[in-house]
Amino acid sequence: MSEAADYSVLSAEFTSSYEPPDIESNYKGTMVVICIDPRVNSFVSSVLPYAVIARNAGGRAKAALRDIVVSQEIAVRDVAVVHHTDCGMCHFSSDSLRQKIKQDNPGDEVVAKSVEEIDFDHIEDLEGSVRSDVEYLKAHPLVKKDTKVTGWVYDIKAGKITRVD
Ligand SMILES: [Zn+2]
Repeated sequence: MSEAADYSVLSAEFTSSYEPPDIESNYKGTMVVICIDPRVNSFVSSVLPYAVIARNAGGRAKAALRDIVVSQEIAVRDVAVVHHTDCGMCHFSSDSLRQKIKQDNPGDEVVAKSVEEIDFDHIEDLEGSVRSDVEYLKAHPLVKKDTKVTGWVYDIKAGKITRVD
């Protein structure tokens, strides 16, 4: 196993020029649900420096629900669901991922049972997944009714975001 990076050394240059964020002036009550893929990092930090960000594999709404409910208590009323092109969650199915994990752990019943309990919520159709996540949030009883929910696709190659719902 590789050794963990020493983040205190890696962040020294960042710390030397650091300015604390002015959240009071810039907070707009916006939240973005987006993938964990590192290719979206620069978009998030450049375009959304003061948004509340919920990240999970695929940027799926169900996995972000807990974060959305908590964020509504700090006045989030604008939630953008962003899925991106070439997302890893488009490249396998939940069943195929379960099978792979079981094959990697042959005969391990605890692993087999645990992996069956996870809904990986893979993506078959990028715009369709955005629309279904927007519908899910708009219909969810724990999402406040005055919340604006929008859906977007972020193009990794072009660095461009397009509204789909
Ligand atoms: Zn992704």
